Amino acid sequence: MKHKPVQHKANILIVDDDPQNLFSLEKLLRKLDVNVVQTTSGVGALELTLEQEFCMAIVDVQMPEMDGYELVELLRANEDTANMPVIFVSAIHSDEYHHRKGYAAGTVDFLSNPYSPEILLNKVKVFLDLYEQQYRLQDLTAQLNTAHTTLSKRTLQLEASRQVTQQVISILDINLLLFNVANLIQSQFDYYFVSIWLIEDTSDAPIILQAASGRTEKQILPPGYNLSQARPHGIISDVCHSGRPYRANDTHSDPRYQRLEALPDTRSELTLPLCVGANTLGALDIQSELPGAFTDEDILILQSLADQIAIAIRNARLYARITQFNEDLENRVEERTAKLEEAYRQLELLDRKKSDFVQVISHELRTPLTLIKGYSQILLRDPAIKADESHHLQISGIITGARRLQELVDSMLDIVKIDNQTLALCPREVSLSSLMKALINTLKDPLTERNLALSTENLEALPTIEADSDALTKLFEHLLVNAMKYTPDGGKINISGETLAIQINGQSQHFIKIIISDSGIGIAPEFQELIFTKFYQLGEVAYHSTGKTKFKGGGPGLGLAIARGIAKAHGGQIWAESPGYDEEKYPGSKFHVVLPVTLEKIVSY
Ligand code: ADP
Repeated sequence: MKHKPVQHKANILIVDDDPQNLFSLEKLLRKLDVNVVQTTSGVGALELTLEQEFCMAIVDVQMPEMDGYELVELLRANEDTANMPVIFVSAIHSDEYHHRKGYAAGTVDFLSNPYSPEILLNKVKVFLDLYEQQYRLQDLTAQLNTAHTTLSKRTLQLEASRQVTQQVISILDINLLLFNVANLIQSQFDYYFVSIWLIEDTSDAPIILQAASGRTEKQILPPGYNLSQARPHGIISDVCHSGRPYRANDTHSDPRYQRLEALPDTRSELTLPLCVGANTLGALDIQSELPGAFTDEDILILQSLADQIAIAIRNARLYARITQFNEDLENRVEERTAKLEEAYRQLELLDRKKSDFVQVISHELRTPLTLIKGYSQILLRDPAIKADESHHLQISGIITGARRLQELVDSMLDIVKIDNQTLALCPREVSLSSLMKALINTLKDPLTERNLALSTENLEALPTIEADSDALTKLFEHLLVNAMKYTPDGGKINISGETLAIQINGQSQHFIKIIISDSGIGIAPEFQELIFTKFYQLGEVAYHSTGKTKFKGGGPGLGLAIARGIAKAHGGQIWAESPGYDEEKYPGSKFHVVLPVTLEKIVSY
């Protein structure tokens, strides 16, 4: 049976060689909502079934030339009419027919002539119902098939979209990404040819083929194919420039389509822009060998893929730019580091040369200094000088100056030893309390002169420590002299001590800590570490007053560097602490010195 929608009226074929019979039969059938088509011969009936579809036939058995049975036999032989129900009208009993033909029941019925009109109408109605139901069923099946085909297509498209999305989010290499995506769209949607084109980021903005995938290998255009040169006015160029999609439903009749030799079978083409916001990055071009291959729904799905591809391209480009930027940065850092290392090497060399120079000069200065000191002392004992007060004073001045010079030279030699790590310690038991007492005693006069109150705290309670007494005397002298120098007249200085037990690697280590605090000008936080660098001085050197213990008296900037060198040589530490620098409020400074009790267990912390 042909797949046709249910007709408004069903056709019934009536066949009888007697026109009178046909007339009364048609009259009877008109009571039903049907078209009645009549013919007087079997041949006529066959011709009619070739022209139109009948839901059933009512056939007279006894007809000249071709009887009713022969007609039905021929109808059964034709695929279109094989199942058409037939009612035979005859005086012959149905058993005979079954006996002779052996047809399946259901499609054939019998009426003995003369027949009852009601029975005939009832039989016809049954066949009519059957016919209508069959049509409805076919209709339904056709609808289901269409739905199934659409659904399968959509499932495939969604799966392809999912796979494209997967690629888009997982691949940052732009070439690999576009290659995979073109392949996926071509294979999953089964298109003839898929290609991705990008507008290059250069001044002439050429449109270059980035990736392509075709059903056969011959179709592949070479990557890097320059469309702007080859076809500046084709569909892809237009889409790239306008940012609007284009669909050529039939490329044979589309004036904008330009045939490519590599793609001879293209019949329809869809070109979608790859846009991020208002920027068109390129185009996704899809070709099919079927005309009208792209439905509106296909376009929606493919455009959403194109949008994802565009975002992925944008991200991949950003990533490439960042990677490039990082590489440049790394190269620059490497370059700078190499330059810095070179500069550092030069500085080290210079520093060593300076140390050598300081060492040589200091040694050279020692001999004339010893001479000056020696002869000055001889002069001072000379009775003639003793008798002359002014000469005596002048010679005493020379001796004081020579002593200061001697201290300076000693300091310079100390710093050279510290730099070269050749500061040799002569360790013995040292009582810090006694050491401090002796030291304070040497500074008694300047302390009194400048009305500075010096107090000590808890020094007696400290244990003796293993240390080089001369070196420690130097260390604390530098700190005490500094405390005096940077505290105004009438200020206070305090020396306090405490013992520390520190757990290091599960063992208790003992240290002593001395804090020298003053009520002086203080030190700004940013300089509290820098001041330990040799020759480092805060403030304008030219404004320093002279004198070793005078307020803001000048110095060579070596004291703290020597103090730290000595502390470190003992395995100790030294650091400064101050709320800040202020020459009006005098916030004061604290210098912390930590030294191990025994030298064998030196552990820096
Ligand atoms: P200097 O010979 O200049 O005293 P130092 O190495 O002993 O050299 O000290 C370096 C700098 O640290 C000093 O110039 C001074 O600015 C600062 N300084 C040191 N001790 C103190 C202190 N007790 N109070 C304030 N500033 C200090």
